[in-house]
Amino acid sequence: MPQDLLGTPLQFLKGVGPRRAADLEKIGLVTVEDLLCRFPVRYEDRGRFAAIASLHQGQRASVQGEVLSAHVRPTRRPGFRIFEMVLQDASGSIRAAFPNQAFLKDVFKPHQRVILYGLVERRPGTGLQLASPDYEILSGEPGAEGEEDQTVHTGRIVPIYEKAGSMTPKLQRALVQQALQLLGGPGAEIDDPLPAALERTLQMPRRRDAFEAAHFPPAGASLDDLNAFRTPAQQRLIFEEFFLFQAGLLLKRRRQRADRKRRSIAIDDRVRDAARAVLPFRLTGDQKRAVREIVDDMARPEPMNRILQGDVGAGKTIVALLAALVAMENGFQVAFMAPTEILADQHFMTIRRRLEASRFRIAALTGSVPAKRRREVLAELEAGSMHMVIGTHALAEEAVAFRELGLVIIDEQHRFGVVQRAALRAKGTNPDVLVMTATPIPRTLSMTLYGDLDVSIIREMPPGRQAVKTSARPESRREEAYRAIRAAVEAGRQAYVVYPLVEESEKIDLRNATAMAEHLASAVFPQYRVALLHGRLKPDQKDRVMASFAAGETHILVSTTVVEVGVDVPNATIMVVEHAERFGLSQLHQLRGRVGRSEHASACLLLYQAPLTDTGKARLQALVETSDGFVIAERDLELRGPGDFFGTRQSGLPTFRVGDLGRDAAIMEHARREATDWIATDAGVAELAGRLRHQWKARFGLAEVG
Ligand code: ADP
Ligand code: MG
Repeated sequence: MPQDLLGTPLQFLKGVGPRRAADLEKIGLVTVEDLLCRFPVRYEDRGRFAAIASLHQGQRASVQGEVLSAHVRPTRRPGFRIFEMVLQDASGSIRAAFPNQAFLKDVFKPHQRVILYGLVERRPGTGLQLASPDYEILSGEPGAEGEEDQTVHTGRIVPIYEKAGSMTPKLQRALVQQALQLLGGPGAEIDDPLPAALERTLQMPRRRDAFEAAHFPPAGASLDDLNAFRTPAQQRLIFEEFFLFQAGLLLKRRRQRADRKRRSIAIDDRVRDAARAVLPFRLTGDQKRAVREIVDDMARPEPMNRILQGDVGAGKTIVALLAALVAMENGFQVAFMAPTEILADQHFMTIRRRLEASRFRIAALTGSVPAKRRREVLAELEAGSMHMVIGTHALAEEAVAFRELGLVIIDEQHRFGVVQRAALRAKGTNPDVLVMTATPIPRTLSMTLYGDLDVSIIREMPPGRQAVKTSARPESRREEAYRAIRAAVEAGRQAYVVYPLVEESEKIDLRNATAMAEHLASAVFPQYRVALLHGRLKPDQKDRVMASFAAGETHILVSTTVVEVGVDVPNATIMVVEHAERFGLSQLHQLRGRVGRSEHASACLLLYQAPLTDTGKARLQALVETSDGFVIAERDLELRGPGDFFGTRQSGLPTFRVGDLGRDAAIMEHARREATDWIATDAGVAELAGRLRHQWKARFGLAEVG
């Protein structure tokens, strides 16, 4: 094992004292390895020198020459001084000005040979000058061999790093150079998470050399490849990170497969008949396949860990219900957790109706269940006389205990924290777990977020669904939206008007949503019943509003995005979204899924505040063009990048240091394949697992593996 030079604290580098070390720690940089894994954001070719006489205003240029003069010039502003120097090459000379950097008088001396890189600007009265250029002082005689290779900031392809706090691009370049020296020369052996055999098979550059080439590309490297992060060195480091990540997921999955549940379920004719009895319609092909995959998992001795992915309205609930029924027929209890009360209640209502004819008893458990009822439910769950419970995160609370919890179903799982999910799971003995999501996500993200799960996908929509006619209009054409609402209500249908709540200005927005509802009720639609639904209402108020809308008593529901998840009122056929430009693409798609749930033609009108940005335009355009959630997801990822894919807050996506899920999708796929093969061979898996246990949390911010 080589000495752990990569673990060297940055404080050991020249130029990093305790203060700066603390500063760097704030941006996540503690060791030399952290530093080297902080990639440039782009690269600039500063390797070609321009003749000074050829410079023109507005150009960014590298020049090389000899310092003619250097001095500090006071200005009329007290205390504000400018360091100036004049640089000369064979063609001419130019001034360089460094405002507020008087200390440079001790750095530059006449006759030194230097390289400057910066913007050429024209000052009235003084002619062309370089404004605060980057500089490098060349050692040795002019033209001495190796001179160019030693430069760090100029005279080559130069890495540009993101500035953060006191970490400037210039400082990072200097530190990276020291770090590379510390690791030893080219080919030096350093600690490497990538199995050596794999590195050889894939013919990847050694890790030490990859670091060097990624930060200080060799002369002749392609600038385009570098900026696309496609050089062998960059790819190797990205691959290494993704490989480690995928290996961790796969090891976690392998460990879970070693677990055993209390007993596996059995399927016989009785179970099949019971399932048939609750089915209100014929399942689609995709639903059937999903049910089969789930039931197969349940029949195995190891616990199920499966995600059911399907667009809004694809019909996941019935699949979950069939799984629940199979578990209950086998004597197990079922817990079904949903992210909001509205949704939990709705699932409860639907499922209770379906189970009416069965012998199973089912209860709801949310924050608004009265204390007395809650105590009864808890007692029955513990005694085993209650077979299924549907609720919110209240299910994960400590007071909730089961006699024999065999199946855990989690709807919209990304809305729950790891801890909540684990707490619910821990209420059984390695129970089967089925998580569901209505957020179709691109393959790369799926592989990253759900890499430790088996995946079932429902793409096909239930029969008879009509596409929702979608259009985008500037706010100035709001009258059109009102006309459409009026026509729908006159035809006996209902409407949603959705208003965004943006976190920073929630108070103002809520006021706006409220004012909007009042305006609609009194001025625009006095003849209809209009109600307002938002997250700050008390649970029983919310219930009343929802129940009245579901019963058709309310014609128009003005709502903040609480309707986003799962609300099912098939008679609602029109949705108007205010400030559509403020919503993410996937979120708009989810919202739109609230309509188009019956045989009636449905429409979605996106009102936006002009002018739209280019991405704003592209977002709305995507919605108008397609209703395929998976296509929309790919577009969303393209437009926003993975960090923002799920809205303002990230949800469980690991933070990669080198790789980028949008840019490096193909490498993630490759890493997944190689990790799968590597783990199947079993060679070196123990060592890898040890390394992962150590690094997993620190590097990806995720729970431990293995
Ligand atoms: P989601 O996947 O969004 O949870 P739901 O389970 O709420 O979707 O189903 C949406 C609607 O489609 C419900 O009203 C449900 O009863 C209906 N549905 C689901 N599957 C079918 C099917 N195979 N045939 C007809 N209607 C279906
Ligand atoms: Mg649903």
